[in-house]
Amino acid sequence: YHAKQKGNHYLFFNDSMNEQAVKRLQIENLMRFGLKEDHFVVYYQPKMDIKTGRLVGMEALVRFITPKKGIISPGVFIPIAEETGQIIEIGEVVLDKACKDVKRWIDQDLFDGRVAVNLSAKQFSLPDLTTRIDIILQKNQLPSYFLELEITEGTIMDDPQEAISIMRSLSARGIHLAIDDFGTGYSSLAYLKQFPLNTLKVDKAFVDDMTTERGRNMVDSIVTIAHNLELHVVAEGVEKAEQLTTLEQLNCQTIQGYFYSKPLCASEFTAFLKAQKHRENEQTPQLKVVK
Ligand code: C2E
Ligand code: MG
Ligand code: MG
Ligand code: MG
Repeated sequence: YHAKQKGNHYLFFNDSMNEQAVKRLQIENLMRFGLKEDHFVVYYQPKMDIKTGRLVGMEALVRFITPKKGIISPGVFIPIAEETGQIIEIGEVVLDKACKDVKRWIDQDLFDGRVAVNLSAKQFSLPDLTTRIDIILQKNQLPSYFLELEITEGTIMDDPQEAISIMRSLSARGIHLAIDDFGTGYSSLAYLKQFPLNTLKVDKAFVDDMTTERGRNMVDSIVTIAHNLELHVVAEGVEKAEQLTTLEQLNCQTIQGYFYSKPLCASEFTAFLKAQKHRENEQTPQLKVVK
């Protein structure tokens, strides 16, 4: 332990606390620089329909690529960005890039679904959130129909009444809303039915737990709740064929995970879309629209 005298007070801290504080400050500075220098890049992970094997959408996932420290994982920098408030600017960069990429894929006739973008609690509670989103959509000439926002239970349970009104204004624009990491936070079932939601994402932890009967029952229950509330279900973090089979038996329509694809950079995702289109044209020539 070190002790520093500051006036009449002694501040005690140990080496690991000190190290952590230094690391946080370093990342904060890297993020400030990274925002100026365009070091935040968007990757996309496909969401696939289990039954048809078709792409139904994708999730935009931020990557922080620094020249000096290499790639810093969202698990490391997002919590710090949440605390410093930098997540607001980072979130808008991600939304802007996602809109730009999706607009291009739509124009190229490669895609006509929704892109899901994660929205942090800090962004969600901005008084001018809807205006900010409108501006970014308009700038990229992307209709709101193509956007889905993923929010966590914690974000909306903080002030559920306020959350309902924010969600209504987003929903009124045609933006879809998903609950991310469902089951890991503290959702109230009483409120769940009042939120204007479209999708519920089952957290990877539950998918991983499906090796036991209790674990399977748990996912079964979550899917049933979602369907009773007329929500679409997406299972996250699906890596194995057995998980896919079980999820299909449990009536989960959509999956996202390494089984189909890791998150891809925009050019890789373009190739993925082209391969998908090629496969669909071969499978269902009768559905081809002649323009
Ligand atoms: P999330 O929104 O729940 O995203 C899913 C995470 O699971 C992603 O991690 C994805 O790469 C990972 N994943 C997907 N399939 C698999 C799989 O089969 N196996 C394994 N092991 N992992 C899989 P990622 O990209 O590291 O992001 C972590 C979290 O950081 C996200 O969790 C989200 O909460 C946050 N995040 C990422 N991008 C953004 C963003 O643009 N804004 C905000 N606010 N948060 C973001
Ligand atoms: Mg997400
Ligand atoms: Mg998730
Ligand atoms: Mg997560």
